[in-house]
Amino acid sequence: MGVSPPAALKHLGQNFLIDPNIVRKIIALAELSPTDHVLEIGPGRGILTEALCRSAGHVTAIEVDPRLYAYLSEQRAQFQNLTLILGDAMTYPVEQLPIGTVVVANLPYYLSTPLLFRLLEHAHRIPRLVLMLQNEVADRLVAKSGRSAYGILSVMAQYSADITKAFKVSPQCFRPRPDVDSAVVLLRVKDRMEQTREAREQFATFVRAAFAHRRKTLVNSLKDQGYEQKHVEAALTTLRFSPSIRAETLSLDELIALSQHIHRV
Ligand code: SAM
Repeated sequence: MGVSPPAALKHLGQNFLIDPNIVRKIIALAELSPTDHVLEIGPGRGILTEALCRSAGHVTAIEVDPRLYAYLSEQRAQFQNLTLILGDAMTYPVEQLPIGTVVVANLPYYLSTPLLFRLLEHAHRIPRLVLMLQNEVADRLVAKSGRSAYGILSVMAQYSADITKAFKVSPQCFRPRPDVDSAVVLLRVKDRMEQTREAREQFATFVRAAFAHRRKTLVNSLKDQGYEQKHVEAALTTLRFSPSIRAETLSLDELIALSQHIHRV
């Protein structure tokens, strides 16, 4: 008789997938080949881990809960291509994984945004990510300028990757059921991630400053964050933007152009 799995802990975002159909759809979206190395965050009871081990060359799975780590170590011992790690994905040294590692995960929702930002810091090593997260976060990831969901997360994620919201997942596909709808997104990392770290950090600083005060104009928002007003105004004039424009009306490409212009000045 098998050992029964540990009970779910709410504070660790433990909503376990129980629908094999959703697992199949996630695996299909990841387009894995037997040479791929996969990083899974939060393997939980292993429903996705097992499917990943069957489709990829190697799977590294990081689980923070020692009870689940012990349970999985025993239950999935037959998978020679699985490296289970007991640890926190927020501090795990992603740079130690092979270049080209694909991330596939049903993320713990309390940590989905910080984890995504952390993974995107290493985007030059990760060609694509298939992530399950809250439907509301998925909407922010794909939002375009002018929409209420558009903000720092949309801009920084779209700066790094082409993002598709692949499908929604109902709470019924989990035990225990989460309070919110979920969605699976595919992020294909862009070539620009070859850019220097400085260029990426410069743009991230600019975007944080531009969106710091949603109700202020871009000029005032940037000025409050230490940017020279005359440089910002000069850039807006050159690029033919209104001096009273707000950050959330600018597209990703417009924000990039503006940031480059201001930093050149
Ligand atoms: N992959 C499983 C599934 O699809 O059924 C579990 C997904 S569950 C939504 C999230 C998992 O992430 C849980 O197993 C939880 O313990 C784990 N987790 C939570 N915080 C974590 C962290 N900081 N680092 C690694 N794993 C974490």
